[in-house]
Amino acid sequence: MNDHPVVIAGGGTVGLATALFLGHHGVPSLVLERRAEPSNHPRALGISPRSLEFFREVGISEDVDAVAVRSTELWRATARTVAEIDRSGDRPRPRFDRTTSPEATRGHYPQDLLDSVLLPAVRERGATVEFGTAVTGVEQDGTGVSVTASDGRVFRADYLVGADGARSAVRDVLGVSTTGPGEIGDTTVNILFYADLVGHFGSMPVMAQIDHPDAPGILLSVGEGRWVLHVVSPTNENFSDERCAHLVRTAIGADVPVELVSALPWRANVRMADEFRSGRAFLVGDAARTISPLGAFGLNTGLADAHNLAWKLAAVLHGQAGDRLLDSYHEERHAVAEFVTRQALLRWENPEPHWNPSAVAERAAAGMWGTTMVTMGYRYDSSALIDPVPEVPSTEDVAASLDGAPGSRLPHQWLSPDTSTLDLLESRFAVLTGPDGDPWREAAQRVAASRGLDVRTARLDSDWASSVGLTDGGALLVRPDGFIAWRTNQDADDAVLDKVLATATGR
Ligand SMILES: Cc1cc2nc3c(=O)[nH]c(=O)nc-3n(C[C@H](O)[C@H](O)[C@H](O)COP(=O)(O)OP(=O)(O)OC[C@H]3O[C@@H](n4cnc5c(N)ncnc54)[C@H](O)[C@@H]3O)c2cc1C
Repeated sequence: MNDHPVVIAGGGTVGLATALFLGHHGVPSLVLERRAEPSNHPRALGISPRSLEFFREVGISEDVDAVAVRSTELWRATARTVAEIDRSGDRPRPRFDRTTSPEATRGHYPQDLLDSVLLPAVRERGATVEFGTAVTGVEQDGTGVSVTASDGRVFRADYLVGADGARSAVRDVLGVSTTGPGEIGDTTVNILFYADLVGHFGSMPVMAQIDHPDAPGILLSVGEGRWVLHVVSPTNENFSDERCAHLVRTAIGADVPVELVSALPWRANVRMADEFRSGRAFLVGDAARTISPLGAFGLNTGLADAHNLAWKLAAVLHGQAGDRLLDSYHEERHAVAEFVTRQALLRWENPEPHWNPSAVAERAAAGMWGTTMVTMGYRYDSSALIDPVPEVPSTEDVAASLDGAPGSRLPHQWLSPDTSTLDLLESRFAVLTGPDGDPWREAAQRVAASRGLDVRTARLDSDWASSVGLTDGGALLVRPDGFIAWRTNQDADDAVLDKVLATATGR
C-alpha cells in the first residue's frame, strides 16, 4: 500500500467523512482542500438518524451530539417578525423516537460545527488533511492514479475520491458528463449573524418563517446566539452589509443588538454525474450530484455515499474483495441519487405534504415518500447482492420496510438498553441467525477464514428471526455498511455461503 492509498479531493464535510470512514477501516488517506481553512458558514443543518448511525459506528456520536444546537426549542413558528411570534400556547414537545434507529436527530447540526468535530477525528484515524491545496490534474493507469496539486506536487495513490463539490474539477478532468436542469429557483441569501434572541425574547423556535413584507424569509438557529436568515432575492440584488443589517433588524422587529458575520448567496442546483466511478476515481457528495434543498437530503446523501464507498475501497485495498465490488458503488449510489433527487424535487414543487407529518394520502398521491423512508428506507439493487428485493412494502412506514429483505438496511432492535442489532456488525460482514442457526454461524467462521475475511456472528431469538423473514434456523448475511446482502432459510452449506460471499465481495 502507498502511504496514502487514497487521495481525497475536497475537505468539505463529505470529503472529511470519506477520510473518517476509510480511517475507521484502517486506510489512511490524504485530503487536499482548496480553501485555506474550513468554511465557517453553517449550510446544512438537518442531519438524519441514518447519518448519525454512521457517526455512532465510528465512535464520535458524543462529539457530534455536543454540537447540536440546544439553545432554542424544537418547534417551528410563523409570524410577521420574531417579536410577534406567539409564545403563549402549548408547544409541541419533541419526541426522540429511537424505534427504527438507535440514533435520533436532536436539533440542528450546523455543517461548520460538524466539520469541527470531523477534522480532529479524521486526523486521529491516520488521515492527512492539507488546506490551501487544490487538485488540478488527474491521470490514471493500470496500477494507480497520479494527482497533481495546485503547488505542482504530484501524489501517487491507488484511488482518488472526488469530494470537491458541485463544480467538481475532478469530475471535469475525468470527463464525466452530467444530467439535470442545473440551477433552479431564485437566489437565496443566507445572512449569518449573532444576536441574543433567546435572552431578549425568553424562548425561540429552532425555525421561524418570517412574513414581514420587507424581510420575508426563514430564520434558523445555528448555535449559541448564532442565526441564519434565508432571504429570497428574485432580482438577485447586491446584498451590502447595510442591506443585510436592515433585513435582519426588520425580521427581528425589536431593538436587539446584532452582529453581522457574512452573507452567502446561493441557488438550488439539480445536477447528477452520469458515472460515479471512472476507473480508479470515484465521485461522492455534491461532486456526484446536487439536490434541491427541501427535505435536507443533500449532505445526508453525501455522507451515505462516503459510507458506501469507504468499506468497499478498504476491502479491496486489504485484499478481501475484488475490483467488481467497486462497480457496485455506482450501481447502488447512482440509483439512490436519482431517487432522492426526485423526492427533493417533488418537495420543491409542493412543500406542504413534506411539512405535514399526517399528510400521508397527499404524499402518496404526489409520489412522495415519508422523509425517513428517503434517508433510511431505500433499498439497493446491485451485482453485490443476492436476490435483492427492490420494492418496498410501504413508502411511509420505515419499520415495515426494514423487513430483512436483501438490499435493505438491517432493522434496528434494542438488544440491551445501549446495544442495537446494528452494533453487532462492528463494521464487518456479519452472519446473524435465528435460535437454531449455529450451523450457519460455524459455516461462516470456516468460510470467512478461508477468504481472509473477519466476520461477526450472532444468534438472535425467534421473534427477531420471524421479524426479518427467517425461520429459527435461517440466516442473514449483513455487509459492513449495515445492508443485508443475502437471506436464507436453507440448511447451512459451506459451498453456498462461499459462493454468496464471493458475490458480496465482488470476486
Ligand atoms: C443553504 C444551504 C442549506 C443546506 N441545508 C442542508 C440540510 O439541511 N441538510 C443536508 O443534508 N444538506 C443541506 N445542504 C446541502 C449541503 O450543504 C451539501 O450537500 C454539502 O455541503 C455537500 O458536501 P460536499 O462535501 O460534497 O461539498 P462541499 O461542501 O461543496 O465541499 C467541497 C469542498 O471541496 C473543495 N474543493 C473544490 N474544488 C476543489 C479542488 N479542485 N481541490 C480541492 N478541494 C476543492 C471546496 O473548497 C469545498 O471545501 C444545504 C446547502 C446549502 C447551500
